Amino acid sequence: MPTSADAIVVGGGIVGMSTAYHLVRAGVETVLIDRADAGRATDAGAGILSPETNTRDPDIWFDLAVDAVDYYPTLMDNLLADQADDVGYSRCGALVVAMADDDVAAFEATQQHIIDRRDQRSQPTPDELHTMSPVEAGELMPPLGDIAGAIWNANACRVDGRLLNRALRRAAEHRGLTVIDGSVDELILGRGKVTGVRCAGEPVHAGATAIAGGAWSSTFGDQIGVDIPIEPQRGQIIHVDLPGTDTSTWPIISALGSQYMVPWPDSRIVVGASRETGSGFATGTTVAGVHEVLGEALRVAPGLKQGHIREVRVGLRPVAADSMPVLGDVGGVSGVHLATGHGPTGLTLGPYSGHLVAQQMLGQVPSSDITAFHVSRFAS
Ligand SMILES: Cc1cc2nc3c(=O)[nH]c(=O)nc-3n(C[C@H](O)[C@H](O)[C@H](O)COP(=O)(O)OP(=O)(O)OC[C@H]3O[C@@H](n4cnc5c(N)ncnc54)[C@H](O)[C@@H]3O)c2cc1C
Repeated sequence: MPTSADAIVVGGGIVGMSTAYHLVRAGVETVLIDRADAGRATDAGAGILSPETNTRDPDIWFDLAVDAVDYYPTLMDNLLADQADDVGYSRCGALVVAMADDDVAAFEATQQHIIDRRDQRSQPTPDELHTMSPVEAGELMPPLGDIAGAIWNANACRVDGRLLNRALRRAAEHRGLTVIDGSVDELILGRGKVTGVRCAGEPVHAGATAIAGGAWSSTFGDQIGVDIPIEPQRGQIIHVDLPGTDTSTWPIISALGSQYMVPWPDSRIVVGASRETGSGFATGTTVAGVHEVLGEALRVAPGLKQGHIREVRVGLRPVAADSMPVLGDVGGVSGVHLATGHGPTGLTLGPYSGHLVAQQMLGQVPSSDITAFHVSRFAS
């Protein structure tokens, strides 16, 4: 194990790996330490990138998310140049659907929100984002049941979180990243500055440390004198095989509420996910979780009932007290940065937040304004 580096990243999910990748790309000698906990959110993520159809989060989230999805093609080009493997990134489109038994008023409010925002921001174009007739929606996604209304977002993309994480790691290692399989027990702190971490009792020193520990990030708050109010929210998500079915042209489906389906070209559709606030760190598959996910999937898409369950994945979303990411330096203590709290949208935001936090660690002004995500907002 190295005893020092220029920078240390704690956590090897999508956020930490992206931070490390951007640091080594800038020529910074970096060590990433990852415990690979069961329930790592990145390994379970569905991979939907569609901020345009999000009606849950506020404008500060939306602004960051738009920049984050705009950054994806650049990141893909850079990873390709670094000889990383395919990460399943593609523009597959997304349908937001209301079923005949859904609350029509709720759907109309969702539709209004999405279209109003499109018009206020003059993007995407009406060709890219518009309402769609139930017949057209059914043609795009044959397993759907009795549709009452639909909105089409041609710009929606999907990405395989596991593959992207692996690709970032490979590209970063290619550029000199050292990855340690281990647990960071504590930060090394002196005179208002973090100067490294202790891993399995051994010190590793660095001028800058990033905490990207996902749902486990709050443990470092006491040491640096800030509240990092991040809680795990368990999500159960099910991979369903549809042997002999061509799923390659199917779009992402978002139903009213929080359930969705993400088709992949290998005759597979991923349906999910439960949102179990207060779950703690337990990562078992539960009867209630599977029942909820499959029940909703069949309500929306009865045509999936002959599918075979390939796998149930369980991930712990790192959710902050106000459901927004926690990014950037820590007032009063230098040498430490936070990159966590991405909740249900860390595959959308995380690769870009890693870039932004790496920029700040390098003393640069981040390409997007992250002040709204500073941890000081939780100070009482
Ligand atoms: C079911 C599900 C579906 C999702 N779907 C989507 C989606 O469609 N679109 C989207 O944008 N997002 C989605 N997300 C959210 C996204 O997956 C997460 O926000 C994101 O992966 C969080 O990444 P992370 O790097 O912060 O945390 P994680 O991936 O959880 O990684 C944190 C890592 O830090 C390590 N760690 C923690 N503490 C320490 C320590 N002290 N020492 C060493 N290592 C440590 C852990 O072991 C872990 O490996 C989904 C999440 C779930 C669970």
